[in-house]
Amino acid sequence: MQGELRLTVDGPRWSRLLNSEAPVEEHDTMHEDPWVKSPVTLGTESLDYEVVENSAYREDQAQRGRWHRIHYAAIKWLFALLIGIGTGLSAFVINVAVENFSGWKFIATFAIMRHSYFAGLVVYVLFNATLVFSSVFIVTNFAPAAAGSGIPELKGYLNGIDTPGILLFRTLIGKILGSIGSVGGGLALGKEGPLVHTGACIASLGGSTKYFINWQWLRVFKNDRDRRDLVTIGCAAGVAAAFRAPVGGVLFALEEVTSWWRSQLLWRVFFTSAVVAVVVRTAMSWCAHGNCGHFGSGGFIIWDISGGQDDYSFYELWPMAMLGIIGGLLGALFNQLTLYLSSYRRNVLHKKGDRVKIIEACLVSLITSVLSFGLPLLTTCTPCPDPVRYPDIVCPRPSKHYGNYVTFHCSSENQYNDLATIFFNTPDDAIRNLFSTKTVHEYSAQSLFIFMVMFYLLAVITYGIAVPSGQFVPGIMIGATYGRLVGMLVVSLYKKDDIDEGTYALLGAASFLGGSMRMTVSLCVIMVEITNNLNLLPLIMLVLLISKAVGDIFNMGFYEQQAHLRGIPLLESTPKRFMRKLSARDALRANKVVNFSRIAQVSHIVAVLCSNNHNGFPVIEELPNGQTLVIGLILRSYLLVLLQSKADFQDTPIAGDDRGRVTIRYSATDFVKPVSSKGLSINDIHLTPQELEMYLDLKPFVNPSPYMVPEDMSLTKVYNLFRQLGLRHVLVVPRPSRLTGLITRKDLLLPEVLEETSTELSSTRV
Ligand code: ATP
Ligand code: MG
Repeated sequence: MQGELRLTVDGPRWSRLLNSEAPVEEHDTMHEDPWVKSPVTLGTESLDYEVVENSAYREDQAQRGRWHRIHYAAIKWLFALLIGIGTGLSAFVINVAVENFSGWKFIATFAIMRHSYFAGLVVYVLFNATLVFSSVFIVTNFAPAAAGSGIPELKGYLNGIDTPGILLFRTLIGKILGSIGSVGGGLALGKEGPLVHTGACIASLGGSTKYFINWQWLRVFKNDRDRRDLVTIGCAAGVAAAFRAPVGGVLFALEEVTSWWRSQLLWRVFFTSAVVAVVVRTAMSWCAHGNCGHFGSGGFIIWDISGGQDDYSFYELWPMAMLGIIGGLLGALFNQLTLYLSSYRRNVLHKKGDRVKIIEACLVSLITSVLSFGLPLLTTCTPCPDPVRYPDIVCPRPSKHYGNYVTFHCSSENQYNDLATIFFNTPDDAIRNLFSTKTVHEYSAQSLFIFMVMFYLLAVITYGIAVPSGQFVPGIMIGATYGRLVGMLVVSLYKKDDIDEGTYALLGAASFLGGSMRMTVSLCVIMVEITNNLNLLPLIMLVLLISKAVGDIFNMGFYEQQAHLRGIPLLESTPKRFMRKLSARDALRANKVVNFSRIAQVSHIVAVLCSNNHNGFPVIEELPNGQTLVIGLILRSYLLVLLQSKADFQDTPIAGDDRGRVTIRYSATDFVKPVSSKGLSINDIHLTPQELEMYLDLKPFVNPSPYMVPEDMSLTKVYNLFRQLGLRHVLVVPRPSRLTGLITRKDLLLPEVLEETSTELSSTRV
């Protein structure tokens, strides 16, 4: 396999040992390739979901009995249980911390405001800035992958892309501590995105090869396939915990984050979501007795508006459709603005270093604090509702930051500040207040409008600063505000008692989320679960469908756009139309494939691994009649394990079976690589000059049945193959000249019938 091109060898150690004359194959270096400059091709590696059915794997499978299967299933269920408990408890910890920090902050601010407004503002600003600083400091210095919501990266991971650092233990810690700071610090963001990421990190601990979890009995899980399932479970658990919406969690994982789904997985995801619901419920009932400081019966996102509108009239459909359109437009605009800003941050601002990130976050915190404190000061207060007509309403509520009818800078005793009720408050409480169904015109149109514009702008500038952040809560707040405005319009037009502004606020929230995130089924169920109002289901469905359709006219969904911006090469569910005209041959970029012959010299393997970053290499055997045969595909990670172990090095270039020996020294779990981080590298391998002269028979280690497609297969079909099977490599071959047979779906059922006689069959065939 002597080549004409000499490849440069990475690392001084290897170039010395290999004396740069190492015989490597000719390879198209792709220097002029336009794709090399594309962001989607840089720095990302795919995951290996495909089962490598090599000798070690087959041996392993043959040894697996009934008990092994039971053990495997039992561990999976155990993990599902642990993920549920872990995520539920993390959500609880975050909520207790956020509620307590917020409680102390508001109590201190209200107390000082009695003496001086300015001193109150200073305390409020400092409190928020300290919390935000702690968050951004943790993220920049300790866990950079914890910034943002994490959902675009998780989408990428479950689509088959290994995003380094995203599922590490330190990311988990950074995410939990960071979101306490960012949410407690009053920024225009929520904790649901971080909770989804937290759930995924907890889940991936189960498949980690690092830390303390490396026991032999858990090693069956150390592969990308099983880890993918665990991460899916974790994502669902995160949503279930954030919204206390177990079914919504399952559907969120199914609709938004995963690319592949299996029915066995559905049961486990469902089980974990149920566990989360129980854990959260138990923890909250413990807190109900005052054990958790300011964290009382509220705290978790649940805005019960079951007292609201439970029926609707035909004439209300047009304002509801209008809400859908507004949601689609504002959602698409939000996606576009955040995209521009994130792109500027990525390419310019954040390249200047961590100090800039810290200053930026503190600046955003300052603007948010000043606006949320200052704007309510400029509003005129509203008289409290008539206590005779509304005996249940407690108004005014001096020095109380929670609940409706907050009294803030009001001249008379019997007034409340409607803008402070939603702006000078924790996000959860603000949403609860916006959905309030207690009275008509609880908020003035002017306050709602000011809040909407300001909060929209704040949410746009906040997304992308280096703190953990979620987009659901800001989306719900923006949508609920214009929803309530439309509700006020409908009430004043039709003057009917049964029209409820809170209901419109809820529909507005659904419309904005639909217009921005473009989810439908999962959002619908989440909205129903968090509001406990099943009667609104058809309306939420209508609004979501309209807002998604309108948003889709302008741009992609929020997470897809962000994934694209980060250079995550997501394979979307459907191939592009132009692919129908192209064939597999058209997608080939290299003129010649870098491959190995079955018996390869160690120095050659090292030289090839040093000279490129490919992860899959076809292995070719030369037959005695001079023809060549593709015997499979070997992964870089396997070659590195073989080079490190050295156990299979041989002195002569003779095939193992010709020597009457095919050793299986490895079990299937020996070839695993650590989760989402750099695995073994060629620079970790140490070989002597004598060892470099030796040979390796690659046959027992190749994947003997990689997916192959004929070169004229349409690219659409190849795309679907990749997308539906989660492939990493596909070999392109000429049209086959010989045929062995044909299989139909009935033939796939046949082995089941013949299972008992299969041993007999296989022995007679041999
Ligand atoms: P992924 O990046 O998806 O994890 P990979 O690392 O095996 O897979 P890359 O080396 O990153 O693949 O692919 C970069 C380019 O090199 C692609 O265009 C691919 O077609 C090409 N390529 C990959 N493997 C080989 C190979 N063995 N021989 C020649 N070209 C290859
Ligand atoms: Mg690669």
